[in-house]
Amino acid sequence: MTPTADLSRITSCLSDYDPNALSVAQAQRIIREFVTPVAAVEKLALRSALDRVLAADLMSPIDVPPHDNSAMDGYALRGADLQPDQAVTLRVAATVLAGDGFAGTLQAGECVRIMTGAPMPAGCDTVVPQELVQADHGAAAGATVTIAPGVVKPGDHRRRRGEDLQAGKPALRRGKILRPADLGLIASLGIAEVPVVRRLRVAFFSTGDELRSIGEPLDPGCIYDSNRYTLYGMLKRLGCDLIDMGVVKDRPEAIEAAFRSACENADAVITSGGVSVGEADYTRQMLARLGEVAFWKIAIRPGRPMAFGRIASNGKSAVLFGLPGNPVAVMVAFYFFARDALLRMMGVESAPLPLMRAISASSVRKKPGRTEYQRGILAAENGQLTVRLTGSQGSGILRSMSEANCMVVLHHDQGAVNAGDAVDVLPFEGLL
Ligand code: AMP
Ligand code: MG
Repeated sequence: MTPTADLSRITSCLSDYDPNALSVAQAQRIIREFVTPVAAVEKLALRSALDRVLAADLMSPIDVPPHDNSAMDGYALRGADLQPDQAVTLRVAATVLAGDGFAGTLQAGECVRIMTGAPMPAGCDTVVPQELVQADHGAAAGATVTIAPGVVKPGDHRRRRGEDLQAGKPALRRGKILRPADLGLIASLGIAEVPVVRRLRVAFFSTGDELRSIGEPLDPGCIYDSNRYTLYGMLKRLGCDLIDMGVVKDRPEAIEAAFRSACENADAVITSGGVSVGEADYTRQMLARLGEVAFWKIAIRPGRPMAFGRIASNGKSAVLFGLPGNPVAVMVAFYFFARDALLRMMGVESAPLPLMRAISASSVRKKPGRTEYQRGILAAENGQLTVRLTGSQGSGILRSMSEANCMVVLHHDQGAVNAGDAVDVLPFEGLL
């Protein structure tokens, strides 16, 4: 792991840093400044690079397309032969198909039957689509076509050499997550292997004596551990390599052993639970021995308590996110604090979350002075995006998250929302 700035130096630069009253924006800024990308790069076959992060700018070795070509099935001609106010009749000198060439040079009064993607014959600068001409005697050489005035302008329906990508210029920038279009674009350059940042290793565990894992009997007073599954899902979707360390009991020695093992094996450690007042004290002391970890109370709902920093053991270190225990809080804290940091560590240059505006179907109580993330259902009604909340918004009610398809973002300074007001929403799903 690359050495990085220390937390106290970053926070000492902030005039208004108060760990007990941190705004969402401040916490995000500190986290962003603290983490650095992993340096290791691997070369992968193009298909295996899907969803991975490009580690270097990819320069185009060729022009794409490599030659001027036709955008339509039709007839290639010299634009100079067109008449603005009268029909012209041209002799069809040859036919070129995609993959073919036309050896000759077109003479005045001639055209070439051409298919989409076929190279433009020398001398031609214009294509008239076949449905816009009157063809005589089919398309055989020797036949003629007649083009009415005004149906095409010189230069129409010609795709220029290099109009997609130019040789010697960057086709893709480092830090880009490779999507299906990028695989196709790289293939269009004839490139078989790409350098990508190695996968981020993330260890995660749940803390709490009350937690039972799936398969264990549910003893009185206990609940099943759900956070490890939501965390698994969110981390998997980011494309991390995962180390699931299970449930760790609320005993200092057990938690310390888990933290040590986690940071010896991972770039980042994510835990849930045990950071709220009452539980945090012994964790705080123990983490102070392992590294530099701040315990924050963030002006956010849900997800107020959070621990953040770096811990080390046996010469290996990892970034630590101690997320709150409540099932909705852990997801909110993951999406709005951990996600961006993990992407940054993965080498992603920028991954802004695209907020949309929607009309709130109901009023929402909200006090200025903290950021709230409510769970909503976004729908398009008569061309207007509207959002309604998914019932009870308690931070333990995971159903509110499961039923939602978006998060309603109520900003720090924002007050109550009236029905009919526009609010910011963050949709959960795009095209997968
Ligand atoms: P804590 O932050 O440890 O005080 O936990 C806050 C609340 O979240 C408590 O009601 C815990 O029982 C619950 N909780 C903590 N961890 C988990 C988990 N892994 N799965 C489900 N609920 C949890
Ligand atoms: Mg607990």
